[in-house]
Amino acid sequence: MTAAGPASSLHVAVVGAGFVGTTLADALVARGCRVTLVDQSGDVAGATSTTFAWLNSHRKRPESYQALNRRGLDVWRGRFGDRHAAHVTWGGHAVIVARAEHVETLRERVVHLRSLGYPASFVPVAGAAERVPGAVSPGAIAAEFPLEGHCDPGPIRASLLAGLAASGACTVVTDAAVAVDGAGVALRSGGRVDADRVVLAAGNGSEALAASAGFRLPLVGPQAGGAAWGFLARIVVPSHGIDRVLSTDDVNIRPDGPDALVAQCLDLDRAAGPDHQHDPEIAAAFASRVMHLLQRDDATVASVRVGHRVIPADGQTVAGPLDGTPDARTWAVVTHSGITLAPLLAELIAGELCGGEPSPLLDGFRPGRFAAGGRQSEGVAPARRPGEQ
Ligand SMILES: Cc1cc2nc3c(=O)[nH]c(=O)nc-3n(C[C@H](O)[C@H](O)[C@H](O)COP(=O)(O)OP(=O)(O)OC[C@H]3O[C@@H](n4cnc5c(N)ncnc54)[C@H](O)[C@@H]3O)c2cc1C
Repeated sequence: MTAAGPASSLHVAVVGAGFVGTTLADALVARGCRVTLVDQSGDVAGATSTTFAWLNSHRKRPESYQALNRRGLDVWRGRFGDRHAAHVTWGGHAVIVARAEHVETLRERVVHLRSLGYPASFVPVAGAAERVPGAVSPGAIAAEFPLEGHCDPGPIRASLLAGLAASGACTVVTDAAVAVDGAGVALRSGGRVDADRVVLAAGNGSEALAASAGFRLPLVGPQAGGAAWGFLARIVVPSHGIDRVLSTDDVNIRPDGPDALVAQCLDLDRAAGPDHQHDPEIAAAFASRVMHLLQRDDATVASVRVGHRVIPADGQTVAGPLDGTPDARTWAVVTHSGITLAPLLAELIAGELCGGEPSPLLDGFRPGRFAAGGRQSEGVAPARRPGEQ
């Protein structure tokens, strides 16, 4: 728990105990609130269970979203990351690409990020590719983004839940929320959680819950091959020596301990979807790309899972009261890049729930933009190129 703020008698029901809901519960309890944390799963589930967990503000549009992610990174770089230092790695991020369209994109990105004061620099390919010799090919360029890192969200979430249990101020309810109203949450079991405020942090379950209270909170749809779906492989490579996030033309990797990597092959995500079963060809493609990159022949795919990203219909974070008023009973925190953003959003929204001024950082990210007649879906392009997520 972060340093305790002034005592508050507010009782907040948070629906969803993924990374976003758990960090929010932690921030609320630190401010003296009572929290009931409702999740339909007794274990880590949803997007938090299948995430690349790269901490970054690397390619975010528009500028306000870039700024939000940058502040999110600052919170990780400061107090939140310090609390969970054993599960956070500040190794930076290296990109090495040779394909013409990726080279051009990387050149533009470095220039753009530097213009925003975000550390980014071109570096010699040979040095950047020290442990990934397969990335060296004619025309390759490399860049480094030293502010970025990665984390292991599972143990951090578990530690937050342990702290919440020890606080005596948080009750965890394992049940599905089927509807929310001005007075609380109706549960599938037939029970209820009555609370002063309800916050929807239910990831992809948030749209239906918002609708049950009469609000629009549209998310990117679940069609196969769309922006919401992505493969995530865990690949055993003994003593791989990789110490950072690395993006290349056809595979992105990060370490998962000294003998395993987490990998994404974004172009393969066209085949990902809700009904995807184990596909030996996908697993073989992951293995061969990683072995080529590392110039080794001993990589073994331990698992390939399909992650379901939580993406509001315009790609941007949703955070705040559903009806736009500070005294609203029902709030939402629903976002992509939720590992990077959760600690910041938790601080901001807990502050507002406890009577603080609305944060200008969240202007443009309020749920009201989707109200009837408001902004409609602008479509979200799937992440397919190095450095996208
Ligand atoms: C493949 C992939 C790669 C990603 N890579 C990155 C990355 O590199 N960096 C980054 O910052 N972010 C990344 N993300 C995004 C990030 O993982 C998510 O934004 C974040 O995990 C969302 O957390 P959440 O708590 O909002 O949602 P979830 O983790 O989905 O949690 C929602 C919770 O709500 C519960 N729930 C749902 N409906 C109900 C209901 N009706 N009643 C009760 N409980 C309910 C679920 O059981 C679940 O526990 C990635 C995501 C994916 C899928």
